[in-house]
Amino acid sequence: VSLFAIMRCCILLEGQCAYLLTLLVCVVLFQWEVTQRTLNGSQFYTYSVCNVGEREQDNWLRTTFIQRRPSASRVFVELQFIVRDCNSFDGTSLTCKETFNLFTSESDADVGTTFRKGQFKKVATIAPDEITSKNELRINTETRVVENLSRKGFYLAFQDIGACVALLSTRVYYKTCLATVKSLASFPETVAGGENQALREVSGACVVNAVSEELPRIYCTVDGEWVVPVGQCQCNLGYEEVKDACQECQPGFFKAAASGDKCELCPANTQRLDSGALFCPCLDGFYRAPTDPPSGPCSGLPSAPRDLVATTTQLSTGKLHLSWSPPEDTGGRTDITYSVECQRCEGNVCQLCGEKVRYEPASTGLTDNKVSVSELDAHLNYTFTVEAHSGVSLFASQATPRSNRPPSTSALTTSLHYTGDDLAPGTAYLFRVQALGSDGSPGGSSIEEQFETSPEGTEGKRLRGRKSFTGFTQEWNLSNFYFKNICLFQGASLKTTRKRNSHSRQGPEDTYFSSSEQLKPLKTYVDPHTYEDPNIAVLKFATEIHPSHITKQKVIGAGEFGEVYRGNLKMPGRKEVAVAIKTLKPGYTEKQRQDFLSEASIMGQFSHQNIIRLEGVVTKFKHAMIVTEYMENGALDRYLKDHDGEFPSFQLVGMMHGIAAGMKYLSDMSYVHRDLAARNILVNNNLECKVSDFGLSRVLEDDPEGTYTTSGGKIPIRWTAPEAIAYRKFTSASDVWSFGIVMWEVMAFGERPYWDMSNHEVMKAINEAFRLPAPMDCPSTVYQLMLQCWLQDRSKRPRFGDIVNLLDKLLRSPDSLKIIADFDPRVSIRLPSTSGSDGSPFRSVSEWLESIKMSQYSENFTCAGVVTMDHVLQMKNEDIKNIGVRLPGHLKRIAYSILGLKDQTSTLSVFAV
Ligand code: AMP
Repeated sequence: VSLFAIMRCCILLEGQCAYLLTLLVCVVLFQWEVTQRTLNGSQFYTYSVCNVGEREQDNWLRTTFIQRRPSASRVFVELQFIVRDCNSFDGTSLTCKETFNLFTSESDADVGTTFRKGQFKKVATIAPDEITSKNELRINTETRVVENLSRKGFYLAFQDIGACVALLSTRVYYKTCLATVKSLASFPETVAGGENQALREVSGACVVNAVSEELPRIYCTVDGEWVVPVGQCQCNLGYEEVKDACQECQPGFFKAAASGDKCELCPANTQRLDSGALFCPCLDGFYRAPTDPPSGPCSGLPSAPRDLVATTTQLSTGKLHLSWSPPEDTGGRTDITYSVECQRCEGNVCQLCGEKVRYEPASTGLTDNKVSVSELDAHLNYTFTVEAHSGVSLFASQATPRSNRPPSTSALTTSLHYTGDDLAPGTAYLFRVQALGSDGSPGGSSIEEQFETSPEGTEGKRLRGRKSFTGFTQEWNLSNFYFKNICLFQGASLKTTRKRNSHSRQGPEDTYFSSSEQLKPLKTYVDPHTYEDPNIAVLKFATEIHPSHITKQKVIGAGEFGEVYRGNLKMPGRKEVAVAIKTLKPGYTEKQRQDFLSEASIMGQFSHQNIIRLEGVVTKFKHAMIVTEYMENGALDRYLKDHDGEFPSFQLVGMMHGIAAGMKYLSDMSYVHRDLAARNILVNNNLECKVSDFGLSRVLEDDPEGTYTTSGGKIPIRWTAPEAIAYRKFTSASDVWSFGIVMWEVMAFGERPYWDMSNHEVMKAINEAFRLPAPMDCPSTVYQLMLQCWLQDRSKRPRFGDIVNLLDKLLRSPDSLKIIADFDPRVSIRLPSTSGSDGSPFRSVSEWLESIKMSQYSENFTCAGVVTMDHVLQMKNEDIKNIGVRLPGHLKRIAYSILGLKDQTSTLSVFAV
């Protein structure tokens, strides 16, 4: 025992760890003996043998069983020994040796004192560097490696073949790479590999408050050194790296992204938050525009433009020029634009001038300090208001503007709340609202509207009614008036509330006043733009998903910002679900990233069977993603095109019912979709339809590109209500118009609304009161509902609640779908279907088939010998079937087209309402 130190502890050798494997006691001795020696003044024991004068020596010394740690396949054997110089013995030169051999033998169990030479493998011949002479003792230290150990333990053995040797100590150890933290990832202590695994790959974990896109990895070398770390962990938002750890940002500093950057000092006009800030919110009265980086300074609103001057060269031309000076205070911004509002006054009543008046170059988004206004009436008074805007104006809509409007312009009323308590239950009341001058003189008034109070014992005396105050809109000039209600019964009073702000995104309440809905507290949609930092909105409304829980499988579509994949989501403790994964293409700007994620901030607020469900987002990694439920059948328009004629009306009405239910939910939350179209409805395996596409970027209020006048492309003209095209009046009522178009798309199996008419032709037709004709086989009740959705007067259109109820009724009494609306094949299939594209009659069967999108049957016609249009005109329904047209939808389409071809005399204007 005293021969070897009894140690099993870590000996640090220049950063690596070496473990002594075991207590080594040599138990099997042949000729070797334990000898006590004095070395450098201290006494210790050695194993020695010294049969130098005798021939054929074969003396063995074996250790006890050395147990091996399973991962340690490579061990080091360090020997301390003395070898005597053969020359120091007389007459032994023939037999004396100066080396000995090291052997090893593996075993799964201790075999005790059983010893069989044959089981040992030679590791090395050990020769001394320094030989011991008679007078001087030289201690040698040699280390040898034993590789590829695989069994539970092993023995070492020393073979002497005639030397004079003394073994002082044997140390057996393996090496490990020490537990460490590198690139903010911690790696566990790891046993170094051997010959066959020179580099051992080790996975690590990010330190607390750090994240990494890929799993951090590192390699442990055979020498117990860490090399080549892969995958950098980065401190999370609000944290920075300090000595291998992530520490909260100091007060007054912030960090907005998971990155290797240090926390930054809060920029100008921002609040200094406590430690760990993700961003610095703007000080009161200061804002950030969506294009401003969340890490940038905040800016104030511009003050009002100054010195507004109107000049006219020739009044009779109805044209004048307005010019003004820039605001004194730009709020620290350079993106100042101006908008002009015109009000026309007759007597004491003023109204917005509307579309009659022309502005050159435009009425909004002006960068110059001037504008020309034309088409003015000579005999009227006009009031012009010029407002200065900057990138932050939209975001200031909740706050009090700093004299942004000239003092002569007052706020306007857009909704009414009744506060009286003296109404009789179950009684109808008529209301009229009238403007009075400050001197009490009467002004214009709204039309009368009827409301009913609830029956006794239910809702007390609350008003119940569905009428809007048409005629009483925000188009009143209030500069000299205040509103006073006049009710046609005694004693009731109405209180006007809510200030108008021309920048605010107007919800459906702007046009609709339904008192029962107003009295119900509804969950209201929150515009993510009201958050100074859109990243915070995402955090609030969406669950963050770690990318390792997402598997992308296949590209299924291309979104506005990047590819859309089908894939799986496996959250810990939850079942794996199929999902759609929207990605953000590389090279995006911060604004694009925010716009992309704004969809998630919006979607995350909704929870309805007919609204696409958000599973979560990936925002903390370079590749941002939006993960939603997977809709197996994809977009509705494509799906219907692919199944043309395959569904009965009942099923199509069921789809519309689902879409209407989703839209009712959205409108109840005061969310206006603005881009409702079949391409934005997704269909799942159960043919359930869900509303999707909630991106914000396409319809920003302050985006001059988004208006119809400067760039019509931004508005989906064919789906959009006329008032939304004309003056961007997007409301739930304009969504109802779009819903009517979606109904048409559904009934027409994905046909393009207004076929190949240009946007301009569509708008012209709509203005002239033309509407889409009934699709083929469309129930009359359904087409009537479409026409209601397309009423010019938006207040007369049904609401989504009404639409859901009506469709519900139709579905409950399928007989209601039996009467089919009048159908004209020439307009309903594709204009013009009675002739070729240039107006001349079709020259060939294939030209005709192509025009009705039935080219796939060209061969059937040819094979059946139907090769001229004359042949076609003679075909009966039976003949069409017989040549191989089987799908009922296709059969009808072809039959109707032939019908149309025969009836050359009817006019094309059938879709006038
Ligand atoms: P979007 O960016 O919403 O216009 O998506 C582009 C396309 O990807 C759509 O037209 C669909 O074909 C497909 N897509 C988007 N979301 C889903 C989903 N949740 N399930 C199935 N397909 C989807």
